[in-house]
This record gives sequence, structure tokens and C-alpha cells, in this order.
Amino acid sequence: MRQSVPLLGLAQTLEKVRGTSSKKEKVALLSSYLKGLRADDARVAARVASGRPSERGSKDEAQVGYSTLLDVLREVTGATSEDISKIYLEHGDLGEVAEEVLGEKKEQTLFSEQLTLAALDEAFQKLRAAKGRGSAAAKRGIVKSLLLSASPLEGKYIVKVLTGEMRTGLVSGLLEEAVASAYGLSKAEAARAHMVLGDVGAFAGKAAAGEAGRIAMTPFRPVNFMLAEPFASAKEIAEHFAKKVYAECKYDGIRAQVHRSDGKVRVYSRRLEDVTTSFPEVVGAFEHAKGEFILDGEAVPFAGGRPLPFQLLQRRLRRMEDFEEARKKAPITYFAFDILYRDGKETVDLPLAERRRLLGRALAGSSARTAETVDVRGEREIQAAFRRSRDLGYEGLVVKDPESVYAMGKRGSGWVKLKEELDTLDVVIVAAEYGHGKRAGVISDYTFAVRDGDMLKTVGKAYSGLTDAEIEEMTRRLKEITVRDFGYRRQVRPEIVVEVAFDSVQRSGRHDSGYALRFPRIKRIRTDKGLGDVDTIEKVERIFSGQKLKVDEK
Ligand code: AMP
Repeated sequence: MRQSVPLLGLAQTLEKVRGTSSKKEKVALLSSYLKGLRADDARVAARVASGRPSERGSKDEAQVGYSTLLDVLREVTGATSEDISKIYLEHGDLGEVAEEVLGEKKEQTLFSEQLTLAALDEAFQKLRAAKGRGSAAAKRGIVKSLLLSASPLEGKYIVKVLTGEMRTGLVSGLLEEAVASAYGLSKAEAARAHMVLGDVGAFAGKAAAGEAGRIAMTPFRPVNFMLAEPFASAKEIAEHFAKKVYAECKYDGIRAQVHRSDGKVRVYSRRLEDVTTSFPEVVGAFEHAKGEFILDGEAVPFAGGRPLPFQLLQRRLRRMEDFEEARKKAPITYFAFDILYRDGKETVDLPLAERRRLLGRALAGSSARTAETVDVRGEREIQAAFRRSRDLGYEGLVVKDPESVYAMGKRGSGWVKLKEELDTLDVVIVAAEYGHGKRAGVISDYTFAVRDGDMLKTVGKAYSGLTDAEIEEMTRRLKEITVRDFGYRRQVRPEIVVEVAFDSVQRSGRHDSGYALRFPRIKRIRTDKGLGDVDTIEKVERIFSGQKLKVDEK
């Protein structure tokens, strides 16, 4: 059995990857590093390179809060809070802070062994296992012993992975290319294995072991969801398809993949997390179903034949009140609209029309429902279906090509969506301020950002849209994730995603994106979305030039 390699080599590789802006070079650097590794190390290295300490889809996160990391850094290095704040302000990156202060470590381990990838992975496992009472102290101890045996450069990458802020520019597609090139996989083999495994670490491990060529979809291993492309009008959709298509109601709930095998049922979120315990009704709905399957659909708060406000579901998910009580207020119905796997066989490559038939059969004996659909052709029929869906209380339409395959993890043009208002943006809160008057004492003004490559750029500030109870909850969460406290203003760790509506996009020197949203209002807090789901500066630019066109036309 080959020994695990030191973390140092990976840290040096990632440092070089960060240092080049060439995508090709990034891929080549990581690929040549991965080549020599044993399977277990390849798994850990690729996962670290992706900026995650845990497998995608695992319920337990190993990530550690800023405040814990800051405490440990102070303890290990003797640096003061002021020293650390100063360096942080310079770099805006806690990993860089770690590198700088670890150069002057106060404490040393007695027999400092070189930190290996296996040791790092073991520490991540321990972090995941630390739960409940005493877990904060346990986590602190684990991080402390890691940082004590780490060199400054290793410390930098340990902190980066623990905060999920890698910033190496290694986006998912590049990681996939690097693994493929390291282990001689074709583009198609790599795409398929990565997609089915859903986690780049698992993919690299299999590839290093020479097993990536024959990976089959299996129940209880969630796969990436197919996404829908936004369209602005029924007319555009009619022109895009130019044939008879399916118009489905666009349900406003939580996207959920249901896996059933051996009489067991599990539910996964769009972030591929196991959310089974949050949805007992969904599990119950499939109690009397038969056989094995993987379904795609939406878990919707629903009662008396109509959808209930999405807010109720969020309260329930965040367990803001007694779970049973919340369950009564927001009972859930599962609306299935696709099937990816049935009795040992993948169905993703079958046309949608065929998958529909299989879905109908798979639902026999269950109390889940299929999404409401009508066949439509042309602008008028699409518009009528849209109106009807809105009248029923839904968000709009998802229009689907009956011949399309299920494109895992892709925004395929086989599915398009239509909502009424100008598109909304999913943004992440990066700073917040206390309010005035009625809102004094609570943090009610939020500065938010979109993604620009692996940076975040601010695009606006929102004051309205949340209820008092939500603002209180926000205040509590923002305090928890504060990175720097300026009194009335706080810089926060970017993790709360909100969906904002707005009237228009303007050019602006006030925000570092160069744009500002006009009259932004928070539509909802997207607990189901993470940093990776935040919209990009390109989307803001698209909306900006789209509206310019409209003005010009006028
Ligand atoms: P959006 O969240 O606006 O990007 O819209 C896409 C989302 O609509 C999907 O991720 C699903 O959660 C949801 N959705 C609701 N109804 C459907 C449907 N019938 N088919 C596909 N997606 C749907």
C-alpha cells in the first residue's frame, strides 16, 4: 500500500494554479499533480481543490466558522485581534491571513510530523462527526492541531477549504478536465462519471483507481438536476420550439429528488443534500409504491387544492417553530415531473414523452402527484397556459420539448421557463447595517453581491421585503457570520443568498460591479441556495443591455 503524500505538494500546486490566469495552465498543473497519487489521495486532493472539505451531498458539513478560525489563529500564533484585522483588511481573505501569521507561530508541536492528505481527510471526518454539546470545543481542538502541524502555506489552504473560499479559479469544468487528463479519460467518460457521482472527489478517486469508465447511476446517490433556461415571453418560447410542446405549471416550492429502493425512500435537495428528515410527507407518499426509482419534482406547501405561500415552507425548513406545528401549517405535496432511473435502468436518455409514461407507472400506489401539464403550440396557447397557471396560484410555466433527454446538471434548451416580472437575481449578502426608527436595534439594510469569476462584486443594497420576524432571524444569523464589526455596519461571511426583484439596472460608480439595481426588494431568503448558485455579473450585464434595447425601441 502506497503512503499518503504530504499536503505541502497540493498547497504548492494550488498556489501555482492561483498564480496563473490561463485556464489551460490551471488544468495542466492540477492534472500533473494528480497523476502520481493513489486513489484515496486523489479523492482528497480533488475535493480540496474544489474548495470543499466534504463530499457533495453529504448531510454533515466540516466547514468551520470565521470566529472559531480567528480564535485558533490567535491562540496558535500569538497574533492579536488588531493584527489579524489589519492583515484581513489588506487581503480580504482569511487563508492569506493564516499564511502570514503562521509564519510566526508561537506554539510548536513536539514531534511535528509532516501533514499528509490522509491526515487532513481524517481531520475533516472528525469535524463532521463533532455534533451537539461540546462540539464547538471539539472543532476548535481539531483545527488547532491541524494548524499547529501546518506550514504557513499548508495553513493557508486548510483555512481556505474550511471557509469554502478557495478562489483558485478552478471551476467545476476545469476540475473535470484535470481529472480526465490525469487518468486518460475521454471528455464524454469524464462528464458522465462526474455527473453521476456528483462529487469531484469521488470522481477523481474512481478515476485514479481505473474505475471511472463504468459508473452506473444507483439509488441513494443523488445526481445533478436539469435546469430551465429563462425566456422573456410566450412569443420567444413559441419561436424557440416551433412545434407542439408540454407546458407545465411552475411550482413554487423546493426542488427534490426522490430515491426509492428496497422499500426505503430518501429525498435530496438541489444542492444534493440529504433532506429526508425535513420531508416526512414525501417519504410517506411513496410508502406503498413499488420497485426502484429516482424521481425529479418539487415539494410544494399545498392545502385545499391550492399552493400555500413559500414563506411557510421556509419557516418549516429553518425550524423556526415546533416542527409538528409547522408541518400542520405547511403540509407538503410532492409534484413529480420526471424519472431518471427505474428498476435497475437509467432512463435519462429516453425522450421526455417516454419518461412521462414511465413516471405515471412508477407513481402507481403512491399519493404523490404528477405536475399539471397541457400540450400547447404557438404563442396564444402558451400565453393561455401561463395565465391559467398563475390563476391556480403558481409562478408561471416550464415549457418542455417532448423529445428532449434529461440533461443532468445542465441548463438545457429542452426546458425553458416563463415568469411574469423582470427577472430576479439571486445575490449573496456581504455586508449589513442596523436600521433606523422602527428598525433601530435590528440589522435591516443588506448590501449584496453577484459573482464575477470567483470574486464577489456588489450590486446594491436592499431595505425592504422581509417581515419583522424574518429581519429578527436575519439579525441573529448576520451576527453569527460577522467577519468584522464596525459598530453600525458589519462585514459578513458571504453565505446568505436572497432573491431580489428590482425595477431596472443602472450603471453606477457606487458599487464595485459598476452597476446598481434600482429599487431592489427582497423577494425571499433562498435557504435552498448556496454561494455557487448566486447569479453572475454577466447576467446583470445581460439584463442591463436587454432593457437598453427596450428603451431604444421606444
Ligand atoms: P428558478 O428557480 O426560477 O430558476 O426556476 C427553476 C425551478 O423551477 C426549478 O429548479 C424547479 O425547482 C422549479 N420548477 C417548478 N415547477 C417545475 C416543473 N414543472 N418543471 C421543472 N422545474 C420546475
